[in-house]
Amino acid sequence: MPSREEMWEQVPEEVDLVVIGGGITGAGIVRDAARRGLRVALFEQNDIAYGTSSRSSKLIHGGLRYLESYEFSLVFESVSERRVVMDLAPHLVNPLAFLFPVYQGARKSLRMISAGMWLYDGLALFRSPRRHKTLKPSEVAAEEPLLKQEDLQGAPVYYDCSTDDARLTLETIIDATRNGGTVVNWARVEALTKGDQGRISGVVVKNQRDNSLREVKAHTVINATGPWTDEVLGMSGPRKGKVLRPTKGIHIVVEREKLPVEHAVVLFHPTDKRVLFALPWGERTYVGTTDTDYDGAPGEEAATLEDVDYLIAASNYYFPTKQISRDDVISTWAGLRPLIAPEPEVGEMSESQVSREHQILIGEDGLITIAGGKLTTYRKMAKECVDVAVNLLKLSDKLPADIQSGQTFKFPLPGAVGWPEDDDHARVAADLAGQCDSGLSEEVGRHLVDTYGMRALELAKLCEADPSLAEPIVPGRAEIMAQVDFGVREELAASVSDVMIRRTQIFFRDLQQGLGSVEKVAARMAQLIGWSDEERQKSIDGYKAEVALSQRWREEL
Ligand SMILES: Cc1cc2nc3c(=O)[nH]c(=O)nc-3n(C[C@H](O)[C@H](O)[C@H](O)COP(=O)(O)OP(=O)(O)OC[C@H]3O[C@@H](n4cnc5c(N)ncnc54)[C@H](O)[C@@H]3O)c2cc1C
Repeated sequence: MPSREEMWEQVPEEVDLVVIGGGITGAGIVRDAARRGLRVALFEQNDIAYGTSSRSSKLIHGGLRYLESYEFSLVFESVSERRVVMDLAPHLVNPLAFLFPVYQGARKSLRMISAGMWLYDGLALFRSPRRHKTLKPSEVAAEEPLLKQEDLQGAPVYYDCSTDDARLTLETIIDATRNGGTVVNWARVEALTKGDQGRISGVVVKNQRDNSLREVKAHTVINATGPWTDEVLGMSGPRKGKVLRPTKGIHIVVEREKLPVEHAVVLFHPTDKRVLFALPWGERTYVGTTDTDYDGAPGEEAATLEDVDYLIAASNYYFPTKQISRDDVISTWAGLRPLIAPEPEVGEMSESQVSREHQILIGEDGLITIAGGKLTTYRKMAKECVDVAVNLLKLSDKLPADIQSGQTFKFPLPGAVGWPEDDDHARVAADLAGQCDSGLSEEVGRHLVDTYGMRALELAKLCEADPSLAEPIVPGRAEIMAQVDFGVREELAASVSDVMIRRTQIFFRDLQQGLGSVEKVAARMAQLIGWSDEERQKSIDGYKAEVALSQRWREEL
């Protein structure tokens, strides 16, 4: 894998397709296009998955709640893609049991919800990660003992999947580069260039590291910039109105012992009855999410005190013996849903009612824009979007002759190559220990396998060659210094935030959000990348600013 700097040097002068935006949507597109044999380059203004794609609820799910609004096609598409993504990345997409407690006086009876579960499993053609079951109140008490028992009628347990959203995006990008795609992070598209009859002919890209500019000619350009969609559409020319109605969602993270849930528990908020979840996350639990209109600049969204209190209130209502407080919140994250604004004639709609469906738009200048959708359905969205690009290329006689079908459903992502069919993470970790003398503890070996899948062996080998790389990044935690090296050398990491937030999850999980280790990480990155003292300090400051943003709600106290 070329480093981020090498990628920038290798950007071709002319390509068939430029993709703007390195979230999951852009990642899916560049992978699909590269696998079809198109000459494709993707530019991301910050890090891979910097936007919504590292700030989701981290679920690959069918969206059970959309059954209530009869959005069967959305649910069908999502449960079908859930299966596909499970097969593409079994090391990253793990079945998770959801417990759905139903209380007396609930909007829907236990019987109706159970019927909905059959429909949910049926739409998945009974290929759900596991079949649902319904627990009696006494069984719920045994399986989720801290949950409020009063007025409980029973609880269906159904299955969706958890994932690491940023890593799913990154592995999709890595697969694209292995198939000939060019991907540069920290490279912002500043302008679109136009040729004959005002048609888009390429982009001007700024290297965010040294502010140098480069023009890349492209026969087609796709705007896959999530919450930045309208900003990039503005580069295409003046516009009336906006395509998006972005809404903000936040999550809070607490130590597992403060809220030890055994399942992902579905909660209806006691005040507005919105659905949210308390989710088990190894040594942590997170609660989310909110859904509120947002009109600020993307990238500056943050949890407010009101958001945090809203989630705490829901948790404390359903787990009365485990009251959590503001002091228990380790970290927060906030993201923007790039939802398509409903047409005015549809009338007033609450945030949660806005459709999650995606749309592909083609501008008069040929700019293709894709917006909306979900992490879960990214692969299918990407395929549809590349189909549109291929048609445009065909119309302009620019389609390369030797184009193939991408078949992105078929090829595992890099960490899944050689992954066992029984999906036994523990056995892969045990095999890993036997394959090289890295001296890593069982806990660290398992952490590497859960994070990198079969690529964990490459990290273990780094430790075998240089035992200092087996040192933990944060004392007492499982992440190791080899992950910093691997991040820079194999995964395009180019800032301290890239490593702490998206190559590892130290930012979310560590009690100090990794602030105690930031100098050490920056020093190692400076050696690997060749930073000056000034660049090293800038990267440290950038990370501290991210931590401060996630804690900004405390200023309201
Ligand atoms: C709170 C929340 C919870 C969610 N939970 C789930 C879930 O559990 N499951 C699920 O399936 N979906 C979920 N979603 C939806 C899902 O996360 C999003 O649909 C998806 O991540 C959007 O990806 P994207 O690539 O379109 O946008 P983004 O991930 O935001 O990517 C767009 C990228 O474009 C880049 N960019 C912008 N302008 C430029 C430019 N000029 N040049 C270069 N790059 C540029 C940005 O930096 C950004 O990285 C959730 C969303 C939210 C907000």
